[in-house]
Amino acid sequence: MTNVLIERLRAGNRRYLKGDSEADVTAAVRLETAEKGQHPAAIVIACSDSRVIPEAIFDSGIGELFTIRVAGNVLDRHQLGSIEYAAAHLHCPLILVLGHTGCGAVGAALSGGGEGYIQYITDEILLAVGSVRDPDTACRLNVQHAVETIRRAFAEHPEIPSANLDIRGAIYDIRSGEVEWI
Ligand SMILES: [Zn+2]
Repeated sequence: MTNVLIERLRAGNRRYLKGDSEADVTAAVRLETAEKGQHPAAIVIACSDSRVIPEAIFDSGIGELFTIRVAGNVLDRHQLGSIEYAAAHLHCPLILVLGHTGCGAVGAALSGGGEGYIQYITDEILLAVGSVRDPDTACRLNVQHAVETIRRAFAEHPEIPSANLDIRGAIYDIRSGEVEWI
């Protein structure tokens, strides 16, 4: 079932690259989703970076993506709670962690970490990348770490139907606009 959903995202990215949007943000779909509720196709965990807009990247309209954005696409309990809500209560079976090239949070972690509250983010990224200092490799490791964090979190919560969940990672190229599934 998730293959259909993944193909829906891939097709959306192809339309985005062509500048050929079909994303439905009309009043009609707004009213329909307000009355009948939301049935998003995927849960997307992405960076807060203003160049990384999941709804645009996957050419998705109102009600299609359940999106969580946080710098460095790192996960803590609030994000896991959001994922759990969409998976368990909205029955959304596809979870995508979307990292991106040129991520400032990953860069900050690689150059020694941040200060103040930013350190909570860079510490989590450093946990994911270990001694790696190549930004592209670090970006992938950070995505894979988030995927594993979700898997582990849900394995510890048997009330979540983890057998039905498909947890994937991908990298968005901020220059080309392409999404590489990893
Ligand atoms: Zn970023």
